Amino acid sequence: MADYLKIPFPDVEDVIDGHIHMHMWYDKQNNIEFLHGLEEYRKECGLKYIALAPLPSGNAVPVPRDVSNNIICAFYKLLNKDTFSYGGYIYPSYPAKTEEMDGMDLATQYKELMEIGFDGIKMLEGKPNLYVRVGKPLDSEMFEPAFSEMEKNGTYILMHVRDPECFWTEATEERINKHWYYGNGEYPSFDDLYTQVENVLKKHPRLNLCLAHFFFSAEYPEKLSRLLDTYPNLCVDITPGGEMYIGFEKHPEYFKNFFEKYADRIIFGTDMDFPVYMEAGKWLCDRVYRFLATDEELMSFDDHKLKGIKINENALQKIFSDNLLTKLGGKPREINRLALKRYIEKYKHLIIDKELEKRIDELSKMYL
Ligand SMILES: [Zn+2]
Repeated sequence: MADYLKIPFPDVEDVIDGHIHMHMWYDKQNNIEFLHGLEEYRKECGLKYIALAPLPSGNAVPVPRDVSNNIICAFYKLLNKDTFSYGGYIYPSYPAKTEEMDGMDLATQYKELMEIGFDGIKMLEGKPNLYVRVGKPLDSEMFEPAFSEMEKNGTYILMHVRDPECFWTEATEERINKHWYYGNGEYPSFDDLYTQVENVLKKHPRLNLCLAHFFFSAEYPEKLSRLLDTYPNLCVDITPGGEMYIGFEKHPEYFKNFFEKYADRIIFGTDMDFPVYMEAGKWLCDRVYRFLATDEELMSFDDHKLKGIKINENALQKIFSDNLLTKLGGKPREINRLALKRYIEKYKHLIIDKELEKRIDELSKMYL
């Protein structure tokens, strides 16, 4: 029997999964379009809200990433009221050249995304493969005006920076194929990326920044504590990365204290995506919840046995709901149909999949 007894989340109200993707607009296998594609997951797992993190830049295989990912997330949000969505920045060409981004510099894009009604910003620009493709350090001039605006307005930013440290040291075949092996001298180091984030925070100490996947710091929690102690709005999410839980498992008492001490600064997410593989979604919710809420021993990531650290209920409520809901203003923002229409007109020439472009035109006619 499947072992999902702890879903939906007992003892926590209004759970929000703060880190979800929309990898495709059409699930060919099951013949489902994206329009309501995550609702079943949301309901089955007892989630009050989900928050979508579009990935409109990068070179993912097999689906090209482009501006369409922002657009379908905006439509999803328009048609499913319990959905938050962040917006992401796009680059008309790689490496990004500021002089080629006239009229679509990041501060302009930020303004457009906020006008549409996105609830925050997702940045993948610190993931080493995209970092190299964009070709600009996080603390470089290109990002500066956008960070200033986001800091000024208190906009929530979910940012992926780094990856598990072993991606720099162990060249497995999968990592090499996915361009996830960073030890060949072409990528910034694990520590360089820490320094760049610290530089951004030094310049923008009130940035409402959430570093995804615990900032890959389960082996270096003291360093992370120092950042959290210095920058009052900084948060991390605990979206697996199974390696993070393997790190937690080594020092259960330490992390119990850590999670209770920083209960205001930690946010739940799963990295679930559409097309949905429901069992994986439920499993992820269950494992993260049980790790924090119980002291049960369970099979966890990478076949490790993980014993829960059982933090107090007050901390649980904050991590699974209150922190992110507060940061996002309590409820999803309304989509401004006119602003979305303008955005589609301005950027749709960058959509690679022509079938999707056609579908977006139809949806615009229907809903905007
Ligand atoms: Zn993610």
